[in-house]
Amino acid sequence: MRDILDLSLEDLSSYVVENGYKPYKAKQIYSWLYKKRISDPEMMSDLSKELITRLKEDFYFENLKLVTKQVSKDGTTKFLFELVDGNFIESVLMVFDYGYSACISTQVGCNMGCRFCASGLLRKVRDLSVGEILGQVLYIQKYLDLTQERLANIVVMGTGEPFDNYDNLMAALKIINDPLGLEIGARHISISTCGIVPKILQFADESVQYNLAISLHASNDELRSKLMPINKAYPLKELFKALKEYSLKNKRRITLEYLLLDGVNDKETNADELKDLLRGQNAYINLIPYNNVDERDFRSVSERKALDFYDMLKKRGISVTLRQKKGDDIDAACGQLRAKKMKEER
Ligand code: SF4
Repeated sequence: MRDILDLSLEDLSSYVVENGYKPYKAKQIYSWLYKKRISDPEMMSDLSKELITRLKEDFYFENLKLVTKQVSKDGTTKFLFELVDGNFIESVLMVFDYGYSACISTQVGCNMGCRFCASGLLRKVRDLSVGEILGQVLYIQKYLDLTQERLANIVVMGTGEPFDNYDNLMAALKIINDPLGLEIGARHISISTCGIVPKILQFADESVQYNLAISLHASNDELRSKLMPINKAYPLKELFKALKEYSLKNKRRITLEYLLLDGVNDKETNADELKDLLRGQNAYINLIPYNNVDERDFRSVSERKALDFYDMLKKRGISVTLRQKKGDDIDAACGQLRAKKMKEER
């Protein structure tokens, strides 16, 4: 049995034709899945009994089982899902003044080893399939359907390095973005990478309008290599050269995510170095207050310090935003909920 969400519209067309049906049946199934968001084939009323039986024999329609849901005072909702093979992943729904945003995972665990990250505490078990990446968005949209609301944005910033699962991610986003699929505009989809240079260059050549975000988190190589081992493979000079190439090809502004770690990367010297790094780049910095992780030594900055660093960057003419802290009263850091569950299982 296969996951029906792994199939593109073209795959579905081949499947129905191979089984003796007209190609338009594929569009009907696709519409039930993504427009009407029905996952019980018995309810797909314009399909014949025979086709429904066939589909039930060949595919499963639900690939995520909800294990836990945590809801924060600010509306942030964290979902822990069990996959068909018993692995766990997390997704988050956040509420912003511009709408609902879903943060999704691309891998079970992560091998990138960023020192501040709860997800990286558990090594990568495997990549998520197309259907498992897409299934998170579909699940959250179905959850919002209950109150007739709509997901406005997708950020691929959960557990896993998205560009380490490039092909599955691109195939999933194609359905998420497809007007016949979940129809979320490309400019409302952001992919956040820790900086795998060859993949950034590959992404620069895709004819897609998704936003690119880089987890920067440090202003010099010494600090970044300490925080993020990937920097040893692709140091800042190489990274920023690739970013320049990306924005020249795509005319798109890049987001540089910068977690504020108390006493680590929030000083005047860091602001000076960031100014030098950003010279000539079509990029802006998004400051993110850190969500503390018990197993990690880093601590979040106070609100005052976050504002001070924001002002330091502003004064240096850097384009900067400061993200509101989300889900403070739940296990907000990416990977925390899964790590807890794994501890319980042991
Ligand atoms: S921050 Fe992202 S890339 Fe780094 S270890 Fe965590 S999940 Fe992996």
